Amino acid sequence: MARLVVVGGGIAGLAAAWSARCAAARAGVALDVLVLERGSEVGGKARTIVRDGWMVEGGPSGFLGGRPELDSLLRASGLENDAVLASARAKRRFLFRAGRLREIKTSPLGFARSGIMSFGGLLRLGVEPFIPRSRRTDDETVWAFAARRLGTEAADRLVSPMTLGIFAGDSRKLSLASAFPKMARLEREHGSLIRGLIARRGRTSAGPLTSLRGGMQSLPRQLAENGGFRVRCGATVRRIDRADIGWTVSIEGDGATLEADAVVIAAEPWVAASLFRPLDASAADALGAIPCPPVTVVALGFNSTARARIPDGFGVLIARGEGIRMLGNLWETSLYPGRGPAGGILVRAMFGGAVDESIGALDEAEMLTLARREVAQLYGLTAAPVFEHVVRLARAIPQYEVGHALRVAAVERAVETMPGLAVTGFGLRGVAFGDAAADGVRTGENLGRWLATCQIGSTACL
Ligand SMILES: Cc1cc2nc3c(=O)[nH]c(=O)nc-3n(C[C@H](O)[C@H](O)[C@H](O)COP(=O)(O)OP(=O)(O)OC[C@H]3O[C@@H](n4cnc5c(N)ncnc54)[C@H](O)[C@@H]3O)c2cc1C
Repeated sequence: MARLVVVGGGIAGLAAAWSARCAAARAGVALDVLVLERGSEVGGKARTIVRDGWMVEGGPSGFLGGRPELDSLLRASGLENDAVLASARAKRRFLFRAGRLREIKTSPLGFARSGIMSFGGLLRLGVEPFIPRSRRTDDETVWAFAARRLGTEAADRLVSPMTLGIFAGDSRKLSLASAFPKMARLEREHGSLIRGLIARRGRTSAGPLTSLRGGMQSLPRQLAENGGFRVRCGATVRRIDRADIGWTVSIEGDGATLEADAVVIAAEPWVAASLFRPLDASAADALGAIPCPPVTVVALGFNSTARARIPDGFGVLIARGEGIRMLGNLWETSLYPGRGPAGGILVRAMFGGAVDESIGALDEAEMLTLARREVAQLYGLTAAPVFEHVVRLARAIPQYEVGHALRVAAVERAVETMPGLAVTGFGLRGVAFGDAAADGVRTGENLGRWLATCQIGSTACL
């Protein structure tokens, strides 16, 4: 039986383990798959905490549905009936600017009246369809692209907070092509974002915002349970080496060394960098150059008296320069059922990211003090929270900065020279939960097929 070891039990690693086993089985070959996970349980960034009637997500709280890879993972884990769609209220999104919560209306008139943009800024936004397509061939930043097409005011007031909301990232550093490839494509194909959006109206490929009844961690947990592979938690992989045939994987602590025909590295980029160091220095350098700043999530639960002050909707992004350190809030109990006790309101506040790396230095008590003060200030609340939970992530979300595509290409080139080694995870080809899951499925499928071919004696594997 061929042996595959997967390093990392986040969604990407588990998806790779499951799809490799399935692809090999389809080719008539049984595959022994072992996932090694450093933590005490699987899930990685997907971490669901249930306490005192509240359900808190330490990482992702939802994903965009309609992806076949995610659907197949839900079926494999037995959770196909556990998906919950976000309420229709999730369409209501807010921005805190110039001291007020302002709804980001989608109608042109509603948006113009929201007070988010000045009259001059709106006029500049309106001429976007007439701005010629760029002839730039370099890797443009998100901010430079937004300023060029939509004007500097829209880049500062809309696109920068949005970039913080999605990547906890700095729009002046992130690469448009790597972080927002769909925006780059709209300009390339339609010559304008506005014209492109109009032309593609009703043809969006993104599915509805979705979560899971038992929280996001229920997918990795159930996949580990039902996926047909083995998982060992509390096992930190220290080193991967080429053997005469296949690979050896060394685990920290007990000094155990496992032999494998193939290995998937599904750990975060900085871990992958250290595992690649003895194998290929250029891939290690490329992975090591992907920054992952800290993020702290503070969940505050309020009783129903806060309902009058906190809007019903998705949440709020907070523009910089407002004297508030929070990047934004998600209103979890507005989005999905079962996130709090009856009448309770759960606010998840995000801090840190690429624009505030010093957040990592604040301990749990300091974070609670800061979050209580800023949430009270934002909504004008006087009532104290009745529930609190803090999740501190020293390195949270990989930043796809300018040059990211070259770094990914360097890693892919190195992997091509090492048969039986693959890399996946949200550090490379998509930062969202669905991207990581889909990349894991594809990576596992390729490796499972390759291993099956080797088992039946193909020379392609030599
Ligand atoms: C605060 C936050 C909020 C987010 N919100 C959203 C959201 O709302 N929607 C969305 O789509 N995405 C969101 N994301 C992104 C989403 O969480 C990720 O895309 C996804 O969870 C990444 O999965 P992964 O398997 O690639 O990596 P991870 O989940 O990081 O898994 C990597 C695993 O490798 C393990 N590991 C590391 N080193 C070793 C080692 N040496 N040996 C063994 N195991 C090791 C780690 O312990 C970890 O379990 C969010 C992320 C964060 C941090």
